[in-house]
Amino acid sequence: MTVDRLLPDQDARDLLDLTRDIADKELARRVDEHERAETYPHGLFATLGEAGLLGLPYPEEYGGGGQPYEVYLQVIEELAARWASVAVATSVHTLACFPVLAYGTPEQRSRWLPDMLAGRLIGGYSLSEPQAGSDAAALTCRADRVEGGYRITGNKAWITHGGIADFYALFARTGDRSISCFLAPGAADGLTFGRPEEKMGLHAVPTTGAHWDGAFLEDERLLGEEGQGLQIAFSALDSGRLGIAACATGLAQAALDEAVSYAKERQTFGRKIIDHQGLGFLLADMAAGVDCARATYLDAARRRDAGLPYSRQASVAKLVATDTAMKVTTDAVQVFGGYGYTREFRVERYMREAKIMQIFEGTNQIQRLVISRHLAK
Ligand SMILES: Cc1cc2nc3c(=O)[nH]c(=O)nc-3n(C[C@H](O)[C@H](O)[C@H](O)COP(=O)(O)OP(=O)(O)OC[C@H]3O[C@@H](n4cnc5c(N)ncnc54)[C@H](O)[C@@H]3O)c2cc1C
Repeated sequence: MTVDRLLPDQDARDLLDLTRDIADKELARRVDEHERAETYPHGLFATLGEAGLLGLPYPEEYGGGGQPYEVYLQVIEELAARWASVAVATSVHTLACFPVLAYGTPEQRSRWLPDMLAGRLIGGYSLSEPQAGSDAAALTCRADRVEGGYRITGNKAWITHGGIADFYALFARTGDRSISCFLAPGAADGLTFGRPEEKMGLHAVPTTGAHWDGAFLEDERLLGEEGQGLQIAFSALDSGRLGIAACATGLAQAALDEAVSYAKERQTFGRKIIDHQGLGFLLADMAAGVDCARATYLDAARRRDAGLPYSRQASVAKLVATDTAMKVTTDAVQVFGGYGYTREFRVERYMREAKIMQIFEGTNQIQRLVISRHLAK
């Protein structure tokens, strides 16, 4: 179903039309093959970059789309409705560009942002470590000061686009009480990546660990000041969480659409299953959940676009949208009955993909922690 969106202007309507066109032609046709074979869709991100979809919320002076977050997130939602892995990777790329724009010097911005925003350089975000996920401040990867730069030593974990990205927003310890952010090249000497994790879902985009063995990063690779790393990481994640909320909403919308189509065809006891009230009400609850998920991320995005604080609303959106995606995709499997439990239909994949959304970019327990801390202020 084409979602009837309230968009701010004709430019945004044209952008959403373009996105749907690309999503139908480039994503929907390739998704099943790559998710089943667990293969990366080489060339696809270049196509998204050429269409201008990889730098949408960034300023036009650096080659970005100059779009409000409200519009960017609806583009992400449309991508996710066709291919969650690609939407998540697009959201993570956008997150990885954030430290350069928000904390980079004018020289760093003009040197790197145009290639990043055009998709000529694809980004990853490397905060997590094997022993430091929710507790990001416990990270141990070190950046030791040496002449002209830093030497990076340690292990990172769970990097979306690991081993494929051209650059990483890397967070490393520059002192006992100091964490800093670096723009690390993907091809640095002394940087190696582990084998892709064998995940439950999001099979088409690899997630890997990374091992830093004294790789050298020049001074110009430091973003912001030494010691500003956690502030950068958390402010980036406020925006990133909205990207995940939009991904979850798109996934839930796709599951709802497939469930409704099936329920209009499948017959039991002499009528379409959608006409059995017990099942019609299940679909109604699914639709209400999807609308709520969309409303929460749009509320947070509009606050962000207006320059208002939005951290609490971003956590609410991530929590509501991803819990909704889990429930709606599980219910979609129920609507399909036994067939829903097979790989013949996409709903089983949607259910597997929804699960990770409750976990990454801050688990939903951590979102509740953020929200309750705001309430306690
Ligand atoms: C597919 C995938 C892609 C990912 N991509 C990236 C990426 O690109 N970049 C990146 O940096 N990271 C990435 N991650 C890592 C992800 O963000 C972490 O897995 C996540 O933050 C949770 O950390 P953890 O796995 O160490 O779990 P833990 O922090 O060990 O948490 C375990 C459990 O304890 C709960 N818990 C922990 N602390 C508290 C608390 N204070 N109160 C209540 N409950 C708590 C958690 O909610 C969770 O249920 C990815 C992970 C996956 C699986």
